[in-house]
Amino acid sequence: MRPLGHRRQVLLFLVAILVPSLVLVGLSLRMISQERELTEKRRADERRRLVNQLSQDLLSRLELIKWEVVSALARHNDLASPAVYANSAVALVASIDDQKLLLPWERDTRAEQTRKLLSHPDIEPIIRQGEQQEFAAGQLEKAVRSYQAAMQAARHPIQVANARLLHALALGKLGRRQEALAQFRILLQTPGEVVDEDGVPLKLFAAERLLAFGVAHRAVLDVAAWAAQSRAWLPPTAYYLASGLADRLMQSAPDPKDRAAAQQLHLRVQAQLRQIAQAQALQADFPRLNELHSVRRRTEAVWIPYGEETWLLSTGSPQGWPAVLVALGAQEIYTMLGRQMALESLRFLTPREPGGDPLGDNFPGLKVSLDIPGDYGLLWRGYQQRRFYYFALLLVLGMTMFGAYLLWRDLRRDVRLAEVRSQFVSSVSHELKTPLTAIRMFAETLQMGRSQDARTQSEYLDTIVGESERLSRLVDDVLLFSKIEQGKKAYHFRPLSLSEVVRSATRALQYPLSQQGFELRVQVEDDLPRFRADHDALEQAILNLLSNAMKYSGDARTIELELYRNNREAVIRVTDHGLGIASEEQGRIFEKYYRAPTRENQLIPGTGLGLTLVAHIVKAHGGRVELNSAPGEGSAFSICLPMEGRT
Ligand code: ADP
Repeated sequence: MRPLGHRRQVLLFLVAILVPSLVLVGLSLRMISQERELTEKRRADERRRLVNQLSQDLLSRLELIKWEVVSALARHNDLASPAVYANSAVALVASIDDQKLLLPWERDTRAEQTRKLLSHPDIEPIIRQGEQQEFAAGQLEKAVRSYQAAMQAARHPIQVANARLLHALALGKLGRRQEALAQFRILLQTPGEVVDEDGVPLKLFAAERLLAFGVAHRAVLDVAAWAAQSRAWLPPTAYYLASGLADRLMQSAPDPKDRAAAQQLHLRVQAQLRQIAQAQALQADFPRLNELHSVRRRTEAVWIPYGEETWLLSTGSPQGWPAVLVALGAQEIYTMLGRQMALESLRFLTPREPGGDPLGDNFPGLKVSLDIPGDYGLLWRGYQQRRFYYFALLLVLGMTMFGAYLLWRDLRRDVRLAEVRSQFVSSVSHELKTPLTAIRMFAETLQMGRSQDARTQSEYLDTIVGESERLSRLVDDVLLFSKIEQGKKAYHFRPLSLSEVVRSATRALQYPLSQQGFELRVQVEDDLPRFRADHDALEQAILNLLSNAMKYSGDARTIELELYRNNREAVIRVTDHGLGIASEEQGRIFEKYYRAPTRENQLIPGTGLGLTLVAHIVKAHGGRVELNSAPGEGSAFSICLPMEGRT
């Protein structure tokens, strides 16, 4: 086949297999990427839906609490009313007065009430007198009496309690310890609503004094605990007092259990002090919290996060109030919401934290981070699907490539075979032509009667016979080969003497051997047992080996033909002393049409069939062909036939 045809086949191969494969790969990759995009989109949708729901739930929950606070305020008209702090999430409720925030203790109705009660004309002059005597004149005795008079003049328990505190303090200063303690103990029992003019419950002062005297630790602890637990706000002073009490009790309480309780108390009060600091910071920041102000005008429900221990801030307008700010402890609400929506991973982010999804217009600055439940399922499904696609793609590609490889191999073999075959046809024609030419030439000469010499005539006839024998050997080879190729070759085995076969082959070649000046040394062991074989086929094999020995002898002129027994085998060996065969060729020379591609070989006519037939025949007899050869030293081909069970 010409190289052009070859190239066309390669091209065809590329177009038919590689191009569709590439298209397939491209399509699959596209599909995979689309699948991934789809999964992403589904995830994003699911996420958006959840965030929406979350935002709505959060809003309704917060608005409900705000509504409770606002209506409690409208009912009680008191920022410190327990009803306002009924919901545990409420952290701070402060009134808004013209862009300014008034913290609960700055708008304390109890303190106001106390101030009013103490400025009553029945009692105010007496107290003022007592203070005058105590602080300006240093007349403690007189002051004690004045305060006592104030207590007697008082109508209201708050007036009594405030006068009692002054009285007890003055007694303490005078060193009338027992009397002072008795008064402080009474004050310790007063309810939390009994406060001084700044709104600090009097029992906190009493507790502080009692502790200073080193008595009533347990009762003091209770009072401090009460202050720390109070849900409504007390003035900062109250917390500082409670903090001092807790600190001192931690060290001085006689009972270790009380000391431990004081430690807990200490932590709680510290937390409350932090909240106070946060409330004060909020007060300072309040004018700048634009979202709240702009929203208030629009009366929209808006909540903004604020502070380290985050509060969610919103504004409301209770009846009878200008406006209030409601701060809810975010953590508590988040936890509740997460539990309700079964979102374990729910986390709210402060505006400074990166990432997260914004919760929408109602929550400026608030972001949420969440892993969507079932998200893993979705991802996993996507992953599985992609894996399946990859696998299928790989399989198809693998199979295509494997098929392509097989095709490619077949193609190459076909191309090679086609080449060899065409070479074979030309060499067969050549082989046929040589003897035919000789026969024709000698026959014509005889026909013309040019040479009348009887010896010459007989020589011519010998040549004609010899060449026709060569011709029939050649035709025999081709016929045998063609039968083998079609699978039609049948061997006819019968018992025979191998020496007979060898001799008949020798006879057949006598003429060409002598004509070309060869000496054939034949050595035959006659006592070999009879052997089941196909006479003609075996003879043809020996003839082929002998012909090859003649063809490839070069200048050497002796050939050995032996038949001997080697263990359980009968061996027919043909040895020449000619060109020899390179070891790398030795494996291939038995292939059909194969001819060693050496320069000397090119000049020697041949079809590449001889050894193929030898190998086939020997194999049909259950034997094998052995080759001993080296370039320049000649070759020895041995047909080894097993004798066992063949007679
Ligand atoms: P052909 O002789 O027609 O080429 P064969 O099948 O008989 O075909 O031989 C195949 C090849 O083996 C030959 O082309 C030759 O190269 C090599 N060969 C066979 N016999 C011999 C030999 N006796 N000496 C050297 N080369 C040989």
